[in-house]
Amino acid sequence: MTAQEYMDKAEQFLVHTYNRFKIVIEKGDGVYLYDVNGKKYLDFAAGIAVFALGYNNKKYNDALKAQIDKVIHTSNLYYNVPAIEAAQKVVEATGLKKVFFTNSGTEAIEGAIKMAKRYAYDRDGHANHEIIAMNHSFHGRTLGALAVTGNAHYQEPFGPMIDGIKFAEYNNLESVESLITDKTCAIVLETLQGEGGIYPADEEFIKGIRKLCDENDIIMICDEIQCGMGRTGKMFAYEHYGIKPDIVTVAKALGCGVPVGAFVAGEKTCNSLVPGDHGTTYGGNPLATAAVSTVFDLFKEEKIVENVNEVAPYLEEKLDEIVKDFDNVTARRGKGFMQGLVLTTPVGDTVNKAIENGLLVISAGSDVLRMVPPLTITKENVDEMIEILRKSLV
Ligand SMILES: *Cc1c(COP(=O)(O)O)cnc(C)c1O
Repeated sequence: MTAQEYMDKAEQFLVHTYNRFKIVIEKGDGVYLYDVNGKKYLDFAAGIAVFALGYNNKKYNDALKAQIDKVIHTSNLYYNVPAIEAAQKVVEATGLKKVFFTNSGTEAIEGAIKMAKRYAYDRDGHANHEIIAMNHSFHGRTLGALAVTGNAHYQEPFGPMIDGIKFAEYNNLESVESLITDKTCAIVLETLQGEGGIYPADEEFIKGIRKLCDENDIIMICDEIQCGMGRTGKMFAYEHYGIKPDIVTVAKALGCGVPVGAFVAGEKTCNSLVPGDHGTTYGGNPLATAAVSTVFDLFKEEKIVENVNEVAPYLEEKLDEIVKDFDNVTARRGKGFMQGLVLTTPVGDTVNKAIENGLLVISAGSDVLRMVPPLTITKENVDEMIEILRKSLV
């Protein structure tokens, strides 16, 4: 079949919730993807911040194949070895206490919300609590996660949302503080806002939220589904601020392509959920958690976070040159390998032009060109990206 025939068939049979770019991907290798016509793309999107290790990593592939030959799924009615190994690695990496594995990011948020609500239910002896979330946030598409997503456009057709959600301004501590009541059970925020336009949190803001949560017995939930797993130069972005959340949500790069997410809880809430409160048929299944376990091993072995810290200053320098050289690029924002360029021309035009020229980049918000490459990129890959981007911005 030709690429066009595949695309026609896709539109015939898949629910049209995406206006997809007009390429049909066949395979990946390292930091490159190839379409069905054999055209090569330098991938600075990584399946939306997922494929941290790069494509076709032999050790990762072999570990998954070995697990497939043992057992793929068992349900959570029984213990399974990969889940136990992965749980220890996730808990140790976050500095928290216990983990619950999910199948996606949005489910990790659902679980985190339920855990915070359950904690407050025990604390107060009743339900009906409030959550403070941020404007321009993104936490997922299921109804609980959608309710804390500060984007009216995503919510509107699906109301009413769950009750008791209030929205504050990101990086404005007073706006958060003014929303706290004795019913507040959680404050949820991305440590670095992704979909909303690549906004890093100020140190004062994150530390201030930590303090507000401590003073008022509120659960601090950091959503690191996109910015976690080494992308900002620390395993988790909250480490930049010297704080720990009460719950962190993780997904995207956690399994590097196998669908898996997690919410990880500290001392305060890790025993709040009890048998019967929460569950999942697939979550933490042996295939998914073998992926998680292997990802943590390979992060160490291949010095992934070290690579981010080594190459990111070069990436930032080269992107700053673009801001200087192009009138339609007004700013750069981001940390590590999570970078955004603010454009005054339509982002979609540049994304399409880049694809034509063999580079995959994506958008964030309405005016930001987003780069979330595999964490294995080299300085040479940065040079290659910059060359194509310069051709695509005009
Ligand atoms: C992608 C994302 C989610 C949702 O994850 P899914 O796996 O798509 O459900 C939630 N929060 C943030 C910050 C994300 O970037």
